Amino acid sequence: MSDSRDWQGDAVDVAIVGAGAAGVGAARRLQALRPDLSILVLEAGARVGGRAWTVRPPLVEGSPIDLGCGWLHGARTNVWKAIAEEIGFTVDKTPAPWSEGGQNLEATMPGGQEARAAIGAFFAHAEQRRGEKPDPALSDLLEPDNPWNDRVEAIGTFLNGSPLDQASLEDYNNYHPGPGPDWRIREGYGALVTAYSQPVPVALGTIVTQIDHRTADHIAVETNRGTIRARAVVVSVSTNVLANEGIRFDPPLPEKLEAAASLPLGLANKLFLHTGTTDGLPVDAHLIGSLHRSATGSYQLRPFGKPVIEAYFGGPLAHELEKAGQAAALSFAREELASHFGHIIAGELEVAAMSAWAATPHIGGSYSYARPGASPQRSILAAPVDNRLFFAGEACSPSRFSTAHGAYETGAAAAEKIATSIAGGVGRS
Ligand SMILES: Cc1cc2nc3c(=O)[nH]c(=O)nc-3n(C[C@H](O)[C@H](O)[C@H](O)COP(=O)(O)OP(=O)(O)OC[C@H]3O[C@@H](n4cnc5c(N)ncnc54)[C@H](O)[C@@H]3O)c2cc1C
Repeated sequence: MSDSRDWQGDAVDVAIVGAGAAGVGAARRLQALRPDLSILVLEAGARVGGRAWTVRPPLVEGSPIDLGCGWLHGARTNVWKAIAEEIGFTVDKTPAPWSEGGQNLEATMPGGQEARAAIGAFFAHAEQRRGEKPDPALSDLLEPDNPWNDRVEAIGTFLNGSPLDQASLEDYNNYHPGPGPDWRIREGYGALVTAYSQPVPVALGTIVTQIDHRTADHIAVETNRGTIRARAVVVSVSTNVLANEGIRFDPPLPEKLEAAASLPLGLANKLFLHTGTTDGLPVDAHLIGSLHRSATGSYQLRPFGKPVIEAYFGGPLAHELEKAGQAAALSFAREELASHFGHIIAGELEVAAMSAWAATPHIGGSYSYARPGASPQRSILAAPVDNRLFFAGEACSPSRFSTAHGAYETGAAAAEKIATSIAGGVGRS
């Protein structure tokens, strides 16, 4: 990645707004298909990656930790797996705790088998009700008085980042991350997206405020650092940025605003805890804080064998703990872990890193979910305007929304359309 700070006053063939997985995917695909076109990625933040973000906290001796995406879902066909292999990153194929061969300690907890059966039955029921009109909220599928409803609700907060009563059944049934298990990138998913962006010119700290598409021969992209003219633009920012009118369009695009508002970002946050001792803590195992509360954490024990516990909070609990801060999140996790491993291990836990995606500027949440009835809005959001203003980002994917490979695919799809719609490149002026 080069930080192109010298672009002011320039015109480019294609401006890409946002350097997340979708923006990077769009840029790389376009570079491959149309090397004659000049491209510039405009990124509001100080780094590439967006919701793909690897950090290396000193408390874990600088080893990589993903605050955002971590799992290569649908790994066999996940484009980031192929990219990782191409650029020399390590794909770790340890079975995910929830897949066959993985270590899910929930089954060994008292009531754990019943809880798993109830979760299985809930999602089988969701599948049976595929196609139901009007599209119900997932909460409509809960059986009154089922003792495991809180456990199912907790799963909903991890999947959607929102309570079940906010989320669409149709969208749940449309989700297909692709075949294959869930694998990981040893060096970090965020580090992979950043490494892949190396050949792409990116202007960091460049906040797009308005996109003026009134004129036929160019689009004017207004930023905090001046205006840039482009023949085509790809907008790959999150739905919360669009819905909050972080970028204004002239003429306005009310259908995009409506689509973005009906596909809001849910919230999931990660808290990485350094463990003083690893005694009694299995490697790459998974545990749920409580089987009986919806406001509970999901805990990945010693990922990659590190002296770390990765806590995952979703929905209302994630909002509450993000607002309350690291000390409150640590205390919550400590209490839940103490009930499994005793106060000795829990007492030794220290915060190595914590995400705060709701408050992260220019992102504002974790991944999109559809409100009941809103799943078709994903295609409305993704539809190009006048074949020169394109939309990408995880929320635009009809079936791989909320993933980093889905985001990439929407960026690549926009690039493919641009490649066939723009005549010979003008280069940078
Ligand atoms: C906690 C968590 C766990 C997750 N786990 C997984 C997982 O295991 N596997 C998986 O596949 N996915 C996972 N995801 C989801 C995945 O990270 C996202 O779906 C994906 O990274 C989104 O990429 P994107 O390019 O669509 O959007 P973003 O990453 O949000 O990129 C958009 C970019 O646009 C920039 N931007 C915004 N506004 C402006 C503006 N006005 N001007 C210029 N730039 C702007 C932003 O700064 C950002 O960099 C997880 C996400 C979170 C938060």
